[in-house]
Amino acid sequence: MTTTLTTSPDEAATHLRRGELVAFPTETVYGLGADALQPEAVQRIFEAKGRPADNPLIVHVVRRGQIGEVAADVPPPAERLLEHFAPGPLTLILPRHEALSSVVTAGLDTVGVRMPRLPLTRSFLEACNTPVPAPSANRSGRPSPTSWEAVHEDLGGRIECILKGGRTEEGVESTVVDCTTTPVTVLRPGAVPVEDLRVVLGHVDVGDTEGERRARSPGTRHRHYAPSAQVRLVDDPGRLSDIDSNLDAAYIGLDPPPQPGAFQTVHVEDNLEAYAHDLFHVFRACDEAGCEAIYAQTVPAEGLGRALNDRLRRAAAR
Ligand code: AMP
Ligand code: MG
Repeated sequence: MTTTLTTSPDEAATHLRRGELVAFPTETVYGLGADALQPEAVQRIFEAKGRPADNPLIVHVVRRGQIGEVAADVPPPAERLLEHFAPGPLTLILPRHEALSSVVTAGLDTVGVRMPRLPLTRSFLEACNTPVPAPSANRSGRPSPTSWEAVHEDLGGRIECILKGGRTEEGVESTVVDCTTTPVTVLRPGAVPVEDLRVVLGHVDVGDTEGERRARSPGTRHRHYAPSAQVRLVDDPGRLSDIDSNLDAAYIGLDPPPQPGAFQTVHVEDNLEAYAHDLFHVFRACDEAGCEAIYAQTVPAEGLGRALNDRLRRAAAR
């Protein structure tokens, strides 16, 4: 199959409406979309990614009115989150609309809904004029794609179209909030910090126990975000002494490593936002360079730090 590369949101939308698969940029990572009303097309998303069928898709909409096409109800806390964070990198779990294909929801009675804020995404969704279920546009298990080149590397020849935009701004995925519970529960930490949700809602659960979160958010059960290189977590770079000199290694973190010469490449990030922006990009660059180990500094578990630590831990898990 030939994969058409385009910068035109209208051309990309034409492919989608024909029942084809289209990868598109958002402010978080690139997504792989299909028309929500064509279940055979949605099914192909799972095949192209190698995604387990029990992992539901987030549905992308461009305006508030479209939420009613996929969700049966928007509870008051969800309404307040929409007022403050839509459009933006926040996904709300809502009761699903009975007409929505169960391929999208992986058989659950809930649906994840998000309204992206990137202008190019919004033009694309406007032109699609249909809700667009889309997971991240990577092969399952690989680091999420933060550039169109990364999408092409994983899915070129497997999907009909890639809408080309720039590097994504956030670099980590949306925060997923279950709005069917009281109080609401964060199922996946992401680009919107829990602290910001608490400013709006007061009490927000963080689904702290791993078991609880796994039971309620199927995606968190699967291995994720991993480069081919082994990821080794570094809590305190100052005490990093056992760097394996037989390995081609890279380093990424907020603090410089004590022996920079021991690494092929060193990425010292200015702040949490820059770290999140670069993480998946660096993972992929390391794979391309044939790197065998990536030493990655963990960060304080606050703000964007929760999302970063979550991605780092899951990338390090084997
Ligand atoms: P991605 O696969 O990268 O798009 O991430 C989507 C995340 O949202 C995965 O962890 C999914 O399991 C989760 N998700 C999507 N829909 C639901 C839902 N209805 N209930 C719980 N989690 C969901
Ligand atoms: Mg993903």
